[in-house]
Amino acid sequence: MIIIMKHAATTAQVANVAARVEQMGCQAHLSEGVERTIIGVIGNERPIDREQIERMAGVERTVPVLRPFKLASREFHPQDTVFPINGVSIGGEGLIVMAGPCAVESRELLMETAEIVKDAGAHVLRGGAYKPRTSPYSFQGLGEEGLRLLAEARQQTGLPVVTEVMAPEQVPLVSTYADILQIGARSMQNYALLHAVGESQRPVLLKRGMMSTIEELLMSAEYILSHGNHRVILCERGIRTFEKYTRNTLDISAVPLLKQLSHLPVMVDPSHGTGHWELVVPVARAAIAAGADGLIVEVHPRPEEALSDGAQSLKPSRFVELMQMLPPIAAALGRTL
Ligand code: PEP
Ligand code: MN
Repeated sequence: MIIIMKHAATTAQVANVAARVEQMGCQAHLSEGVERTIIGVIGNERPIDREQIERMAGVERTVPVLRPFKLASREFHPQDTVFPINGVSIGGEGLIVMAGPCAVESRELLMETAEIVKDAGAHVLRGGAYKPRTSPYSFQGLGEEGLRLLAEARQQTGLPVVTEVMAPEQVPLVSTYADILQIGARSMQNYALLHAVGESQRPVLLKRGMMSTIEELLMSAEYILSHGNHRVILCERGIRTFEKYTRNTLDISAVPLLKQLSHLPVMVDPSHGTGHWELVVPVARAAIAAGADGLIVEVHPRPEEALSDGAQSLKPSRFVELMQMLPPIAAALGRTL
């Protein structure tokens, strides 16, 4: 259930209602909008007496939230969630492009790629230091050394960095280096990990599991939100289907659907979503046209030498072309890049 406070409700009235909710055994989560404050009631609502709450000073009405996700729902937070990360605003009018290699392979490669994506207009540098590989014999990432290199690349370019965290015990370490914590598709339902990033102070890029429904994605976001971290970015990165010409099937309808159901920013990963560099640019354009708040794209100066995901990595010149194609598409939607 959510409690909608009156426009003129005072801070004391809001605090009073929140305290009453907690006395009744639930948690109260506040969403302070421009117009009014909404209190999300989380937990077993059965002992909550709605009529009693509605009689309290400052309360306009209560509304049941029938969906299983509450804090992630539009009802709880009618406006889009927008938040800044190192001077970059995510979820607002301006689109965000995160770009970089699949994995941090070496200092030279990372610095070279970071400069390329920065010059092309990217806002955030991506790169994995801990890589979830299908084979234990494949390159697993540079670990903490990779994190140090990412921090160095941030220092050099001024770009904030996003990198994957694979285990709850890695969260404190990765948080000291990264600006955004990435939860990979394979970890979307690792609830201990979601709990850990929910308690961290870093924004989270939550990727959709390759066999997960949209509701499951939103329930995973709910885990993070309910542990107190409100800076969650959802990411559609393709799901597994019978189709073999692509690595995954990018679910374009997930974009407007997630925007309808939730207030959280929505990004699209056309690299993992297709698996082939030739498809990355057209699918990226489609994602922006469908209303995504941004893209996360793999870029490698020499994809044929990449230690992971070379086949889906854009060469620098293609990435530059993509970045030049996006502004008119953004403008058609009343957005900027
Ligand atoms: C990645 O971003 O490199 C990655 C491993 O993505 P996903 O978790 O979507 O497969
Ligand atoms: Mn990758």
